[in-house]
Order: sequence, then C-alpha cells, then structure tokens
Amino acid sequence: MKDNEWVNYPIIRVIPSSDPIIALTFDDGPDQEYTPKVLDIVKQYGVSATFFCLGSQVVKNPHVAVQLVADGHQIANHTWTHPHAADVSTSELLREIAKTADIIETITTIRTRWFRPPFGEITKAQLSAIVEWGYQVVLWTVDSLDWSGLTGPQIVERVLPSLANGVILLSHCAGNVNGVLDALPHLIEAALDMGYRFVRLDEV
Ligand SMILES: [Zn+2]
Repeated sequence: MKDNEWVNYPIIRVIPSSDPIIALTFDDGPDQEYTPKVLDIVKQYGVSATFFCLGSQVVKNPHVAVQLVADGHQIANHTWTHPHAADVSTSELLREIAKTADIIETITTIRTRWFRPPFGEITKAQLSAIVEWGYQVVLWTVDSLDWSGLTGPQIVERVLPSLANGVILLSHCAGNVNGVLDALPHLIEAALDMGYRFVRLDEV
C-alpha cells in the first residue's frame, strides 16, 4: 500500500501529542524467555509499555500474560498466527483477532481494543473492517530493528537520535531479541534524562 492511500483511514503511527511522551511497544510475545526479561527491565524503571500479543503465545504462556497485565502494562492484539495481510481474507483476519481477544480476555479479563497488524501489513478492506469493530490500529514511528540481529549498542545508536514527542517505538519481546534486552536500559535511562516519560498507548 502506498503512503497516500492511508490518508482516509485512521491508523496511528505517532501519538498526537506535543508532550514529551514515548510509547514502548513489544510485539510477538508473550514467550517464556524474553518477555519476562523485558518485564523485569521496565519494572526496574517504573515504566509502562504496550504488548501486542499473539493469541497462540498467550495460550502457551498464560502466566506471562497475567504478569504483564498485573505489572500495569497494556495488553493488545497482534492476531493468532501472525499472517501476512495478503495471505488472509478480511474475515479470516477478523477471526484471528476475535480468537486472540477471546483468549486474552479469558486469561487476563482484559478485552483488547488496540491492534497492530503483523509485519505492519494491512489492506484497506481489513483496516476499515477492524476500525468498524472499534479497534485502534497502530503501526509505529521508529523501528528498533531488534528482530534483525542488531546489537544493543547498534539499537541505541539507531533509536536515540529518533526520539521525539509522541514517538511509538517498535520492539519485540520474543524471538531472538538479545539486542533489545541489552539496549533497553540505556534507552530508558537516556530518554528519562532527556525529560521524556513513557506511556501506554491507551493512556493518551
Ligand atoms: Zn509481529
């Protein structure tokens, strides 16, 4: 989809605020290895974040989903199987979102209202159907590229100069994301020193 085709569709790429706020977002969890480590780091700094979870992971690691909600984070929807937009019809995508919302609600009592499309891919038909369902659809402002195997210092070097009011930072909390675990304390400390505060997407 070309950028200009998004114009008439409400999709969030940045927090519309002039306040010095940043949203950390972590996709593809919860897993047993990395998500608990991410939770430990953000807890250490008293920072809240948004986790776009896969239903297939929530069902495997329900205690981690419960923990992230108990820690005060926002749990959000990232489909069940992480499909490419072109590989699923609108109704299939809606079913994935509904199934994921149901398992998250069963396990955490939270009904998801925020959705991030896997790979950032979504068709116009899918987008309008999801928005009509009452979901906020979110992409990101800055991609940490943590999934590509960057080291912690490389991630810090990439992300820090991009920080600005309202930035939504894309990271992951599953898969091999050692780089982001290494970068996260440095990023949080630097951002706090710069006067930023961290918010859940549904806080703003
Ligand atoms: Zn993802």
